[in-house]
Amino acid sequence: MADACLFCRIVRKEIPAKIVAETNDCVAFRDINPQAPVHILVVPREHVPSVGDVTDPALVGTLTRLAADLAQREGIAESGYRLVMNTNADAGQTVFHLHLHLLGGREMGWPPG
Ligand code: 5GP
Ligand code: ZN
Repeated sequence: MADACLFCRIVRKEIPAKIVAETNDCVAFRDINPQAPVHILVVPREHVPSVGDVTDPALVGTLTRLAADLAQREGIAESGYRLVMNTNADAGQTVFHLHLHLLGGREMGWPPG
């Protein structure tokens, strides 16, 4: 499963991506189809399909901390940003390797579509 997983392959650098940060536990890269001026995906190196499969809750905190640091670095921390984890079909999850979307650089509507 992890062999063929798109984001595992990006983590292993088998597929190119615009990587913006790498830590022991996470990799962050720009979304190929950005939905906002800043659209970064923060993923764990470990293959975890969805948030419902998380066993170590600290993993979610680690992804969130890195996303907040990247928001600062990208200059959107003050103007605001959205962190999203689409989960399963109704939410539109298309890649089943856990990822946190960091979206910002424009005003966003609520409720989300
Ligand atoms: P999801 O819909 O699962 O929450 O988000 C998956 C995201 O991965 C989408 O925003 C999509 O644009 C992005 N994505 C899909 N394939 C690739 C790829 O090959 N490279 C990068 N950088 N992003 C991708
Ligand atoms: Zn994976």
